[in-house]
Amino acid sequence: MRAVVSGGGGFLGSHLCESLLDRGDQVVCLDDWSTGSAENVAHLRGRSGFTVLDVDVSDPAALSAAGLTGPIDAVAHLASPASPPDYHRLPLETLAVGSRGTENLLRLAHDHDARFVLASTSEIYGDPLVHPQTEDYWGNVNSIGPRSVYDEAKRYAEAVTAAYRRSFGTDVGIIRIFNTYGPRMRAHDGRVVSTFICQALTGNPLTIYGDGSQTRSFCYVDDLIRGIAGMLDAAEFGPVNLGNPGEYTMRQLAEEVLRITGSTSAIEYHPLPTDDPTRRKPVITRAQDALGWEPKVPLDEGLRRTVAWFAGRPAEVTAAAAL
Ligand code: NAD
Ligand code: UDP
Repeated sequence: MRAVVSGGGGFLGSHLCESLLDRGDQVVCLDDWSTGSAENVAHLRGRSGFTVLDVDVSDPAALSAAGLTGPIDAVAHLASPASPPDYHRLPLETLAVGSRGTENLLRLAHDHDARFVLASTSEIYGDPLVHPQTEDYWGNVNSIGPRSVYDEAKRYAEAVTAAYRRSFGTDVGIIRIFNTYGPRMRAHDGRVVSTFICQALTGNPLTIYGDGSQTRSFCYVDDLIRGIAGMLDAAEFGPVNLGNPGEYTMRQLAEEVLRITGSTSAIEYHPLPTDDPTRRKPVITRAQDALGWEPKVPLDEGLRRTVAWFAGRPAEVTAAAAL
């Protein structure tokens, strides 16, 4: 098939582009490089069937002028700042790509009779009052807090995706991705896994926000990408949770990173950011039933692979740890 991947130059998008190319698909990567990196797809350039177009997908005129011609069988919409420091820095851009960007790509999919898959997020559930989270939980989101630019953009993106299905019969699917980690995360992106690893590798203190009792469920990137590819191939609307149900406090994560790196870094406690969710754990029975998907890589193995990847980039790691 010929797939369009918006945000294809980002952490997850670049792995998706690579995985689709590896199985013989053609891939058009759309990116404005606001939080992605050309280096993520440098090894894919020149591969048969791979095209990169520099475009802001929130701008319909730019998208029309980008030179996207030929058939399209699937659109995977991953474009969006995703790390909290990124969407705090780019609040209006985050709202734009979740709203106008999603509409522009839905129209593209509809016009080409293509399947559309939205990369939504566990942030839809906000600070959840139901634990663990099933897809029929409607969430607990502060609509005006600092995280709202991301959460509400994604909630609107889900709403407009569902509306295209109802209004036009567009073949759409929604995945709700839980915290994912692995090679090609940016060292300085501010997410907890990359931050703790860079701090541990450089002997700097690990910065736990709050008392570290808040939980997250971390999925290794290869597992997640298998799930996205499965959703592109399925006729499922979802929403489908994609995540690893293993649940860890941030204190446990810090200890695991220290154990795996063999670091003697101290642990420091910093204030908890506003509206930081207290817990997160996906129920994945829908993904198991609809896609035959479940994660395979346990946290310690995934962290080992991620640590090895960061250890090969000492300059980036040192620069990030100094921030
Ligand atoms: P990322 O920041 O590494 O990648 C996002 C990519 O989108 C970047 O390459 C960026 O340059 C591009 N982009 C942003 N705005 C754009 C625009 N207007 N036009 C074109 N390109 C644009 O983030 P990621 O972790 O790879 O996340 C990818 C997607 O998955 C996002 O939609 C995010 O919300 C979702 N997601 C990720 C996680 C996670 O843990 N990584 C969890 C839940 C949801
Ligand atoms: N966090 C932390 N130290 C850091 C960065 C993050 O303790 O240096 C915490 C953060 O407050 C949150 C959790 O780790 O409770 C996950 O943060 P991340 O930004 O990776 O993802 P999200 O909050 O979007 O789930």
